[in-house]
Amino acid sequence: MDYKKYIKIVNDWPKEGIEFKDITPWMDNGEAYKAAVNEMVAFAKEKDIDIVVGPEARGFIIGCPVSYALGVGFAPVRKEGKLPREVIKVDYGLEYGKNVLTIHKDAIKPGQRVLITDDLLATGGTIEATIKLVEQLGGIVVGCAFMIELSYLNGMDKLKDYDVLALVKY
Ligand code: 5GP
Repeated sequence: MDYKKYIKIVNDWPKEGIEFKDITPWMDNGEAYKAAVNEMVAFAKEKDIDIVVGPEARGFIIGCPVSYALGVGFAPVRKEGKLPREVIKVDYGLEYGKNVLTIHKDAIKPGQRVLITDDLLATGGTIEATIKLVEQLGGIVVGCAFMIELSYLNGMDKLKDYDVLALVKY
């Protein structure tokens, strides 16, 4: 499917110089949304996934339907101060800004096989931080799946040791 026609490019948002890829038209379209979920499910099928992990907020949009279709759970990675129980945390750099990501300490059991999902791979800071959280808890990252990869930002360089799916590349 030609997903690009469902992605709206918004110039200078949220800051000047950023060419934001808006995925909401992709989610608005039931057929295109389902096709994306199905491609990720097919990627995950042979990997014996125990749990899907996604960073807020757009990692939930794609990760939750994938986990549902696989019949496994979903663990949210959230910004500092959002999860109610004991967390572990990691600092990360973003395409625009800095942040801290957290996950509940008991979200992943040692040895669990984890698929990480997010809407978009840019510099790779978010996925790298998410991988660190999963691995600190003893999880095994068996795949990372993105709707979009901005290849000109070289996030893939941080994922050389992982099996990665990106449905659309710019
Ligand atoms: P990275 O950490 O790889 O530099 O940035 C990726 C993260 O920032 C993702 O969680 C993604 O949701 C968000 N992000 C950065 N740029 C864009 C964009 O152009 N479009 C969308 N939808 N998300 C973006």
